Amino acid sequence: MRIYKVGGAVRDRLLGKPVTDIDWVVVGATTEEMLAKGFRPVGADFPVFLHPKSGEEYALARTERKSGRGYGGFTFHASPEVTLEEDLIRRDLTINAMAEDDQQNLTDPYHGQRDLEARLLRHVSPAFAEDPLRVLRVARFAARYATLGFTVAPETLALMRQLSESGELEALTPERSWKEISRALLEDQPQVFVEVLRACSALKVLMPEVDALFGVPQPPAHHPEIDTGVHTLSVLQQAALHKQPLTVRWACLLHDLGKGLTPENEWPRHIAHEFKGLKLIKAVNERFKVPKDCQELALLVGEYHTHGHRALELKPSTLLELLQSFDIYRRPQRFEEFIAACEMDARGRKGLEERSYPQADYLRGAATAARSVAVQPLLEKGFKGPELGEEIKRERLKALKAYKEAAST
Ligand code: ATP
Ligand code: MG
Repeated sequence: MRIYKVGGAVRDRLLGKPVTDIDWVVVGATTEEMLAKGFRPVGADFPVFLHPKSGEEYALARTERKSGRGYGGFTFHASPEVTLEEDLIRRDLTINAMAEDDQQNLTDPYHGQRDLEARLLRHVSPAFAEDPLRVLRVARFAARYATLGFTVAPETLALMRQLSESGELEALTPERSWKEISRALLEDQPQVFVEVLRACSALKVLMPEVDALFGVPQPPAHHPEIDTGVHTLSVLQQAALHKQPLTVRWACLLHDLGKGLTPENEWPRHIAHEFKGLKLIKAVNERFKVPKDCQELALLVGEYHTHGHRALELKPSTLLELLQSFDIYRRPQRFEEFIAACEMDARGRKGLEERSYPQADYLRGAATAARSVAVQPLLEKGFKGPELGEEIKRERLKALKAYKEAAST
């Protein structure tokens, strides 16, 4: 049996990037031989094993053929006769279809090295079209390597468009899609992911609510960039620049969806877009079975981001309602993430990227003021049940009035 490093490990070494996980391909071996060597089988369907010591993935060289819709619709053929070249041709991109032996000798039948130098994400063969997930993968790699100057080869983008328009993307499971989307959002240039999906018409299929924002104008006084789609991408870019977590990035992507629903005769104003957007945010959340913390923050940011921007003008009672909605007493982290998303929204505007955002500290101070109301003295005064709740609220309101007054002098 011969063993080669493949995929990301080879690509990233040639790019001079740190290699984190290594994938291996094994040529000329049978499942029985692997098991005899102590490798542990991973799944029933794939001829993939885990190394007994390193835990790294070793896959038997295989060919694939499409036999139906979706990911289940694949037949695999793994046997000792399958060559390295046959295994590499089923891979998505030429830069991911190189192999390396233990002497660092490169096997590169599809010219991955040439495309690395040309900074091109190019599909290996027409079989690319057999798995629609590759559309998302290419967009994710585009986001990851944009900083190095990589772009999607025009013929690959054309193939991605064909896939998007064929309806195949709809066969993707929420789990597979979300895995790519979440990883892409965590890249350095997540906005490139959205741009590439849009360029190949996949955005219209996957997230029509986001796609609809392009071409929708906003008031130039607040939004010098005008276009809502452009704004959304800038907000996402700011979130990456400021190393925000996935929850915040997801909320940034979805915060203005309501603006896509504004009737044209109301443009460029977007009355109540915060509330109108909620059902769209919910739909996207559910479509990809998004983790609960991401879902929640996206909905809260969607509903309250304008409150965040207007924090200094809010009446104490409105401020209190905001803090209560976030349950800042039990969920302090979530409120911090809300503040971060609002700040990214404020900075994701043309020419305003460096602006200061005094609302952030003001909101933090308000939260501290509301939290400073102690419950024990009220209990001692004999309050209980709903009355206790009302009294705590009154005290918090008092604290916020004092806070607001102190802040304005
Ligand atoms: P990363 O750095 O994100 O791990 P990677 O290239 O190693 O990047 P993996 O998802 O670990 O990506 O997959 C390893 C290799 O398997 C890829 O480089 C590619 O050759 C191949 N591969 C993975 N998924 C697909 C797919 N859906 N279609 C075609 N080839 C794929
Ligand atoms: Mg990998």
